[in-house]
Amino acid sequence: MTKPIRTTSDYQKLDAAHHIHAFLDQKVLNDKGALVIERGDRLHLWDTQGKRYLDGMSGLWCTNLGYGRKDLADVAHRQLQELPYYNLFFQTTHPRVNELSELLFSLLPNRYSHAIYTNSGSEANEVLIRTVRRYWQILDKPEKSIMIGRWNGYHGSTLGSTALGGMGFMHEMGGMLPGFAHIGEPYWYARGGELDEQAFGLKAAAELETKILELGAEKVAAFVAEPFQGAGGMIFPPASYWSEIQRICRKYDVLLCADEVIGGFGRTGEWFAHEHFGFEPDTLSIAKGLTSGYIPMGGLVLSKTIAEVLVEKGGVFASGLTYSGHPVAAAVAIANILALRNEGIVTQVKNDTGPYLQKILREAFNNHPLIGDVQGVGMVAALQFAEEKSSRKRFEAENDIAWHCRTVGFEEGLIIRSTLGRMIMAPALIANHSELDELVEKTLRAVNRTGQELNLI
Ligand code: PMP
Repeated sequence: MTKPIRTTSDYQKLDAAHHIHAFLDQKVLNDKGALVIERGDRLHLWDTQGKRYLDGMSGLWCTNLGYGRKDLADVAHRQLQELPYYNLFFQTTHPRVNELSELLFSLLPNRYSHAIYTNSGSEANEVLIRTVRRYWQILDKPEKSIMIGRWNGYHGSTLGSTALGGMGFMHEMGGMLPGFAHIGEPYWYARGGELDEQAFGLKAAAELETKILELGAEKVAAFVAEPFQGAGGMIFPPASYWSEIQRICRKYDVLLCADEVIGGFGRTGEWFAHEHFGFEPDTLSIAKGLTSGYIPMGGLVLSKTIAEVLVEKGGVFASGLTYSGHPVAAAVAIANILALRNEGIVTQVKNDTGPYLQKILREAFNNHPLIGDVQGVGMVAALQFAEEKSSRKRFEAENDIAWHCRTVGFEEGLIIRSTLGRMIMAPALIANHSELDELVEKTLRAVNRTGQELNLI
């Protein structure tokens, strides 16, 4: 029997009939019909009508190697034939997961030694919550259990990761739990007032000390944050922020946990974003770029200090996932990391393509009448819409403006995302100069069209 030929509208009807999409109004989407993406190559995607898009978001910050890597498909194929599945439950292990860890820890600073693999970033943070609580239990401090996150931080969509994150609208959808607290975000443009950036960075960090004292240091297990906020709007903290946060965590014996789900695997030009910002977290949550999104995989990386307590004094670790360290995912992760390393892709982001993207973005937008600020490093950046640059006044309707820009971006063949009043981008790390030129040209066209169509300029 030959396969029936399906049209775009067939897929849209099936989609409307069967799916609840992430973070949008399903009824609004059903009336319009979802865009059906069919194929990808490097930074480009094609829909079922044959229209080509430059993917300025590397999927969801994950296709670090871009689309269409045959070598990753080949290793998955081979692994599926050799050993498609086995687990780490029955006093068992398997070659690929060990080879992956050997490679991963060869890239990481020396203070880390152990990993607990998961299928996603949300799960990495779920595992984080229980693991740090376990750590303090073993050290006879079971009351040290409160996790502090940040407002507008994002750590996933499962229950614990939602509570840890600081998205109020997610908390409202059954997503808050006891044992979680939040401090403000280091978003100078919006919250800095009269302070200069560095003074504001210290003030934002001081909120952590205030919160720890309010809760009682003896009750606080950990502070968890993204080195730069991703889903919250690609917000880069002032340079003064992270060293002060680290000082406060050390002072009160609070674990410092970095969510590297977006920042990891070369995004900033360093292997991990905390290396760019110069601080030393006790744990790292990883996912996305670990496999370049070719197959789901995440993990929690632990410092030697934490791992030693769990291993030497912890007894049974009462946690486990069926697919933890999945052999096919591990095989793809190895091929992905080897490509990022051996093809010099991370180094290229640091020394060449990252600085190039940041330069051409600033040339295009530093003096743009609608843009108040350009932030970013390596292959990650944000444009802040602003009504008045000198006073950092934001548009009242900044959400709608940014959403309009995102929509005309899609019309122009550009996939770019809006978050609050910011346009955010994170192209694949393999992007070359001409692909980055295309990204910035199309973004400029989308911002200009937004200004004209909404009568802003
Ligand atoms: N942490 C961060 C910083 C993220 O950006 C995300 C996803 N965008 C997650 C965790 C959750 O990862 P996942 O969607 O794979 O569960």
